[in-house]
Amino acid sequence: MDATALDNLREALRGPVVAPQDAGYDETRSIYNAMIDRRPAAIARCTGTADVRATIAFARQTGVDLAVRGGGHSGPGLCLVDGGLTLDLSPMRWVRVDPENGTAQVGGGSQLGDLDHETHAFGLGVPAGINSTTGVGGLTLGGGHGHLTRTYGLTVDSLIGADVVLADGSVVTTTEKEHPDLLWALRGGGGNFGVVTSFTFKLHPVDTVGVAVTVWPVERTTEVLRWYREFLPSAPEDLNGFFAVMSV
Ligand SMILES: Cc1cc2nc3c(=O)[nH]c(=O)nc-3n(C[C@H](O)[C@H](O)[C@H](O)COP(=O)(O)OP(=O)(O)OC[C@H]3O[C@@H](n4cnc5c(N)ncnc54)[C@H](O)[C@@H]3O)c2cc1C
Repeated sequence: MDATALDNLREALRGPVVAPQDAGYDETRSIYNAMIDRRPAAIARCTGTADVRATIAFARQTGVDLAVRGGGHSGPGLCLVDGGLTLDLSPMRWVRVDPENGTAQVGGGSQLGDLDHETHAFGLGVPAGINSTTGVGGLTLGGGHGHLTRTYGLTVDSLIGADVVLADGSVVTTTEKEHPDLLWALRGGGGNFGVVTSFTFKLHPVDTVGVAVTVWPVERTTEVLRWYREFLPSAPEDLNGFFAVMSV
């Protein structure tokens, strides 16, 4: 990306555009999976829908490869492209709870901890993942499951609307009534249908949540998983468990 193009992108955005020569570039391009070491030509840190539209327009006009970053937890590092442009939604972290209607609107770059923190204050929640720094974006668009799933379903079962910037730059709101085909596609279709700037979820009552950890020697993995397979289906649906097989 030449200097003039970079200047044009910077001019168009309110958020900063971070390039390889800038301080903080390595920090900005680092993601959860430290095995991924990709070097985008620029990272556009979008502060709102206007920045998202401008970044998409820039990619369309210049033909540069575009990747979209939410929480940066994708295993294969889908949010980074070598020599391309990363549209970084991480400055768009906000949550607005409407307790009267039992819904929450969530910024496209929010993390699960942002969502849990705001909804829990009202005794409400969305079934999502187990780790507070995973992005609401990638998790929801991939389906999403977690501790509340046995009680309330997948994350996408609670997704009732979204604001989306499409590849042509247009902005659409999708609900079960408006552009329902797009909402259907977002419910598990991955990040391929546009950039979601805001998600709307239906909320569920969530009271006290208890957590316990048990640790077993790795040689007993098969035995413990067999036990779990038999145990969980007959347990109450507000009980969940998950496994991590790891060196400590
Ligand atoms: C430590 C850890 C714990 C996990 N736990 C769970 C779990 O409990 N349950 C579960 O279901 N999954 C879990 N996952 C998997 C996780 O949901 C996926 O890796 C998901 O894709 C991460 O989303 P992200 O926004 O953080 O990642 P990113 O790498 O930023 O994005 C992943 C994909 O989604 C796209 N995307 C992200 N946000 C948007 C948006 N707003 N609009 C359009 N496209 C977007 C990106 O372009 C990319 O293709 C976990 C992953 C990790 C690393």
